[in-house]
Amino acid sequence: MTEAPASRRIVIAGAGIGGLTAALLLARAGFRVDVHERVEALSEVGAGLQISPNAARILIDLGLEASLDASIGRPEALVVRSGTSAEVLAEMALGDTATRRWGAPTWVVHRADLQRALFAAASEDPDIRIHLGSVVEGASEHARGMTVLVSRRGAMEDVSALALIAADGVRSKLRSMVTSTRPPRFSGRAAFRALINVEDAPAALRGTKTGLWLGPGAHLVHYPLRRGTLINIVGLVKAEEGVDDWATRTGPDEIVHAFKDFAPLARALIAIPPTWLRTPLYDRPPERSYASGAVALLGDAAHPMLPFLAQGASMAIEDAHVLARCLADGATNAAASLQRYSKLRVPRASRVQREARFNDTVFHFGFPASVARDIGLKLKGGNGLAERYDWLYGWKG
Ligand SMILES: Cc1cc2nc3c(=O)[nH]c(=O)nc-3n(C[C@H](O)[C@H](O)[C@H](O)COP(=O)(O)OP(=O)(O)OC[C@H]3O[C@@H](n4cnc5c(N)ncnc54)[C@H](O)[C@@H]3O)c2cc1C
Repeated sequence: MTEAPASRRIVIAGAGIGGLTAALLLARAGFRVDVHERVEALSEVGAGLQISPNAARILIDLGLEASLDASIGRPEALVVRSGTSAEVLAEMALGDTATRRWGAPTWVVHRADLQRALFAAASEDPDIRIHLGSVVEGASEHARGMTVLVSRRGAMEDVSALALIAADGVRSKLRSMVTSTRPPRFSGRAAFRALINVEDAPAALRGTKTGLWLGPGAHLVHYPLRRGTLINIVGLVKAEEGVDDWATRTGPDEIVHAFKDFAPLARALIAIPPTWLRTPLYDRPPERSYASGAVALLGDAAHPMLPFLAQGASMAIEDAHVLARCLADGATNAAASLQRYSKLRVPRASRVQREARFNDTVFHFGFPASVARDIGLKLKGGNGLAERYDWLYGWKG
């Protein structure tokens, strides 16, 4: 890539799902993009992500379906069960039904597989440069544009750019250029994640459906990954904060205890993995704005949310889509384009943050509120659930 004029160059901090998707969409919109990623090598550690139709559609438009084909699962339904009795409360069709209803399927994919596919596509794009081991420290705006300060192996560098996109995750430092510097809030919950071989799972849970089990103080999610060869299990439980890290391995005691009141089938699944990745869960209250001057926040840096609607990565992908469109429409007036991006994104991402919090309450009801919830779900059924989420999955941005 030849040196781009600052008026066409965008700097992105963070090569997570949000930063890499934004890089691809901005390059496609005619910008030159520099992605700076703090870590020296992308991590293989992690677990599955559900990518709902609102975001899968954008990845398909980017041409990523072929490179992801071996990694993604395409669940045919979401089965919601009572955690204590194992009774099926609702079954919402996904697969082709989702494509007909919402314009794209639901995918499930390992985070490392998705990040690798995005990284490979970005590496092949002549308009994108990725700098690993490179930390964006800050930026200043001046009459001639913006200067981004980057540190790399002990050396500091000034980079001229049209705009800085802070896609630096839930612990974003760069967000202080736009909004509050308060730390994210701990939710009182942790996620335990594990992958098992499909043949090790109880026969009743080996199919191509996503399972969601709702119970007192905890819930369980499982779905097949990598063409059904693996099952991703996520247990979400009340917990002490512990170490804030995606890669902390722990034994089964805490999670087995948290699911002690669940039905035998759920407990049989939980009993399989000898080790789990334990992640304390954080979010923030909704913000008023994601942009200030020529700096914008994207993904978890803007709107970290609890994973109880499985939307954090999908919202980051949506952000990237809207951001690229706003910057492309706004020619060289980055500040105005980013204000437009913020106005378009804040109401929707804030609603998703609130709905995820709402699910925290409803998913974990104890008796007797759980009885009312379960009757409500049975009355609604799969079609009623699909209708309830048309606003989310049917988004076309
Ligand atoms: C248990 C759990 C389950 C989840 N399940 C789902 C799901 O099913 N579906 C879904 O859509 N979402 C899910 N999510 C949420 C999803 O994982 C996140 O929302 C998403 O990965 C956020 O992506 P991001 O690009 O915004 O941030 P990140 O992935 O955190 O990336 C930020 C990057 O920025 C880098 N960085 C930080 N500071 C700097 C700096 N100053 N300079 C340069 N680089 C920097 C970091 O190293 C990192 O690579 C889940 C989350 C959890 C915890």
